[in-house]
Amino acid sequence: MTHMAPVYVGRFAPSPSGPLHFGSLVAALGSCLDARHHGGKWLLRIEDVDTPRTVPGAAEAIVGTLERFGFEWDGEVVWQSQRTAAYQAALEQLKRSGAVFPCACTRREMADSALARDGSRRYPGTCRNGLPPGRSARAWRVRAEGVIRFEDAVQGPQEEDLARDVGDFVVLRADGLFAYQLAVVVDDAAAGITHVVRGADLLDSSARQIHLQRLLGVPQPVYAHLPVATNEAAEKLSKQTLARAIEDHPPATALVAALVFLGQQPPPDLGQASLDEVWSWSRAHWQLDKVPRLRHAIAPSF
Ligand code: GLU
Repeated sequence: MTHMAPVYVGRFAPSPSGPLHFGSLVAALGSCLDARHHGGKWLLRIEDVDTPRTVPGAAEAIVGTLERFGFEWDGEVVWQSQRTAAYQAALEQLKRSGAVFPCACTRREMADSALARDGSRRYPGTCRNGLPPGRSARAWRVRAEGVIRFEDAVQGPQEEDLARDVGDFVVLRADGLFAYQLAVVVDDAAAGITHVVRGADLLDSSARQIHLQRLLGVPQPVYAHLPVATNEAAEKLSKQTLARAIEDHPPATALVAALVFLGQQPPPDLGQASLDEVWSWSRAHWQLDKVPRLRHAIAPSF
């Protein structure tokens, strides 16, 4: 019997830097419904690779909230903090192919370099061709080369010139931790993720991730970036701002607000229905093409 790989494997990958808020509920719901709509799997990964930003107890709180909201993921939860060996192996592969280089530069030394598209400092290339004499490696960077183009299933055609828009980016940080960009690519590949549905705040990370996928020889998933929920002042909701609102509302009401936000037009009385009814309506009616093609949108009050 031939083993067929599943056609759709999606995931939700929250960082445990605080409790689940409305913005992350939107990403959880959108990724879950798109997977279920395709008869696919939906996995849960806790992105606790950035240990200094990890808030004790936040991961457990997120998992608890997801359960209370009726989310059902396939298989065991994956924890990035337990995946260091896989990230190390990927880094060794990148070292062998010459795709990465050691970098001695401090933040202060880069303070005058040009800005990248996301407003951070673009790496000026100081250590690209070897460490300056007497300096030792603090971090490892990947050479950013080429123009990456891809079609985002919500946001449309995307293009990023890696050298111009991003610059050589860090894969192993000066504090010894692996960077999110590497961890996410290694983990998505290991889990066989075929579709990445997440917030559009990560749209600009996709080109870096595609670059790493090509360097590591792993498949490129389909990307769909959902609008990011903001407050009236167009500020991205922090883990704090709406965390309370999620906890304070019945799950059905919050899920229906997330469906409205995602353009799914649920019937007006669905907010008063049971959690099971909300889920069965959602599974039956989910349409990715109804999601507004916006990078951010104001969260509805509920
Ligand atoms: N951990 C990231 C976050 O919570 C999401 C990463 C991803 O979905 O690729 O913003």
